[in-house]
Amino acid sequence: MFDYHPAPNLLAERIILVTGAGDGIGRAAAKTYAAHGATVILLGRTIRKLEIVYDEIEAAGHPQAAIYPMNLEGATAKDYEDLARTLCDEFGHLDGLLHNAAMLGALTPLDYYDTTMWFQVMQVNLNAPFLLTKACLPLLRKAADASVIYTSSSVGRKGRAYWGAYAVSKFGIEGMAQVLADELETNTNIRVNTINPGGTRTGMRSSAFPGEDPATLPTPEQIIPLYLYLMGADGRSIHGQSLNAQDTQLPTAS
Ligand code: NDP
Repeated sequence: MFDYHPAPNLLAERIILVTGAGDGIGRAAAKTYAAHGATVILLGRTIRKLEIVYDEIEAAGHPQAAIYPMNLEGATAKDYEDLARTLCDEFGHLDGLLHNAAMLGALTPLDYYDTTMWFQVMQVNLNAPFLLTKACLPLLRKAADASVIYTSSSVGRKGRAYWGAYAVSKFGIEGMAQVLADELETNTNIRVNTINPGGTRTGMRSSAFPGEDPATLPTPEQIIPLYLYLMGADGRSIHGQSLNAQDTQLPTAS
C-alpha cells in the first residue's frame, strides 16, 4: 500500500468536490479530505447516505461539509453549469475534483449486452465526468494548486471478457485524463491523474465478485493514502500519470 504520512493540515483551506461521496471509496476519500482540513462538497444521488457522511464529518470536528444531491444518470449539461455557478457563488474557486462515482452495469458478453444499460453506464461513468470537468475547469483555474483525480480500473487499462460498458467507460476515463493532462501540460496550476483503486471492500466489488470473501480485500480507508497525496501540495509534481492505489511507490513519499 502507498505509504504516506501527511501533515494533519495538508488540505487546510481547500475546497474539494467528491462524486459518489455517500458510499465506498468516495465516502472514505471525503472523510479523509475533511480530516486533513478541506471543505468537502459531497455529491451523490442518495441524500440519506450523504447526510450520514456530513454528520460524521461534523461530529469529528472537521470543516463543515456541503451536500449537493445529483443523479449523474439524468443530469444535463445545464445541471453541471448550475453546480459550477453555485460553487462559484459559495467558494469562488475549486482546489480539488475527485471523479469517483460509477456504476458496474452488467457482466455479460458484448453480444448480449443490454443497449439501454450500455448508455446508462456510459452516461454515469464517462459522460458525467466529462460534463463535470468541463463545468468545473474555470473554477479549478482560479485555484493556486488544483488537482483532478479520475477513477479508473484494471479493466480500463487492459480489456477483459464480460466487463462490457464498465471496462469501455474506464478506457474512456483513461483517455480523457490523458487528453486533459496534455492540454494542461504547460502554464497551468491544474494537475490531472487517474487512480486504479484495485480490488477494495465495497458494495460494487461484492456485486462484481459475489463469491469473494470481503475480508481478503483492503478497506476503502486503507487505499486512501494515494488519493490524499495527489490532492495535496506534496503531489504537486505528479501530472498525467495512471497510478494504482495499492502498489504505487512515489519517490517523494515520506
Ligand atoms: P460503490 O458502489 O461503493 O460506490 C459508488 C458510489 O457512486 C456510490 O456513492 C453511488 O451512490 C455513486 N453513484 C453511482 N451511480 C450514481 C449516479 N447515477 N449518480 C450519482 N452517484 C452515483 O463503489 P466503489 O466505492 O467500489 O467505487 C468507487 C470507484 O472506484 C468507482 O469509480 C469504481 O468504478 C472504482 N473501482 C472500484 C473498485 C473496487 O474494488 N471497489 C476497483 C476498481 C475501480 P449510491 O450510494 O447512492 O448508490
